[in-house]
Amino acid sequence: MSGLTTTQAIAGFLTPAAIFAILLALHVMLPAYRVEGYAHRNLGASLPQYRLNGLAVFLCALLVWSLGLTTAPLDWLWVVKWHAIAGATALSAVLTVWIVLRAPADGRGNLIQWLEGRSYNVQFGGHVDVKMFMYIFGGVYLALNAVSSAAYHFGQYGAASNVGLFLHSAMWVWFIADYFVFERVQLFTFDIFEERLGFKLIAGCIVVYPLLYPVALWGTAGLPAPDIDPSLNVVWLGGSAAVFLIGWMISRGANFQKYIYKRAPEQTFLGLIEPVTVTDGKRNLLCSGFWGASRHMNYFGEILEALGMAIALGHFTNFWAWIYFIYLTVFFISRERIDERRCAAKYGELWTRYREKVPYRLVPGVY
Ligand code: NDP
Repeated sequence: MSGLTTTQAIAGFLTPAAIFAILLALHVMLPAYRVEGYAHRNLGASLPQYRLNGLAVFLCALLVWSLGLTTAPLDWLWVVKWHAIAGATALSAVLTVWIVLRAPADGRGNLIQWLEGRSYNVQFGGHVDVKMFMYIFGGVYLALNAVSSAAYHFGQYGAASNVGLFLHSAMWVWFIADYFVFERVQLFTFDIFEERLGFKLIAGCIVVYPLLYPVALWGTAGLPAPDIDPSLNVVWLGGSAAVFLIGWMISRGANFQKYIYKRAPEQTFLGLIEPVTVTDGKRNLLCSGFWGASRHMNYFGEILEALGMAIALGHFTNFWAWIYFIYLTVFFISRERIDERRCAAKYGELWTRYREKVPYRLVPGVY
């Protein structure tokens, strides 16, 4: 059905494990900087330590892949995508068994312990933090999938290729490069300080992030360029790039503003936005800049990025092009409500006051 030989199918299935091993070796070997993380519930007062070099691993992997140094053809990752999804799911299952069984069982239900995990933080020899490495794996593999899909498309259509598909792939590479440039900010996000390491997070990083997020490319890299009047290229390609960049500025801006505030509460963000807060005398919540426009501008920004990516492909009526955008919108609407409950429990009356001051959840003036 897939048109692969048995050997190719097996190689495709093992591809995620091979990438995992190569990236792990790069992560351990390449120079890194050491930083403190954010308060972690299972570590009490002490701050966890991290060794970060995601950007170096990312650039190295991109170079190795783009120069064809692995001996695999450039379009390999697109060709074996379905087998790779199966292989990555198996890899997640193996990693989950290992990670979950390392920690003692607790009083919660068995299924919950497997799905959500037992430990909040797993580190090896001060060298590898499992959560942060899994994000390296997911991000790098996603970018490689984008490059490989573009190579596959070009191989099929050459000069008649869909420029929008290359733009879409470039947006993914930008999205991942941005993540690695600001890798330290990730230490201040929900997954790192709040989630346990179970199948949900592991499969999220090993399967969903690298192999399901680029679903639009799986569905459209094999298609010819859309029939769009070239005089509309500026509107189509320029418009999608503008939506994506505005989304990126909102998302990155909001995350960075909060990060700067948590590290230096008195500092004016980018020399422009004063850190205005609501306070109960002990704790503070930012309510200026992005955090005064809606309670989760960062989520809204990422939804806009996904919208720009969907438009870039130019296959406006093709469902594949929209799956990621629809998924992310639903995901963030639900995640915002989860974070809202967490913050309401943590901040009590202060959170109610913040809500009164900043009434919108995601989209200022709308929702
Ligand atoms: P946030 O970075 O928004 O973190 C939420 C936490 O920030 C809250 O629990 C609270 O924690 C603190 N906080 C909330 N409001 C304020 C405020 N006004 N002032 C000060 N602190 C506040 O959410 P996530 O960790 O979920 O997301 C981080 C980034 O990762 C986002 O950009 C998101 O879009 C992205 N992301 C992307 C995903 C994807 O699949 N593409 C998936 C998940 C996240 P506390 O008070 O304890 O500090």
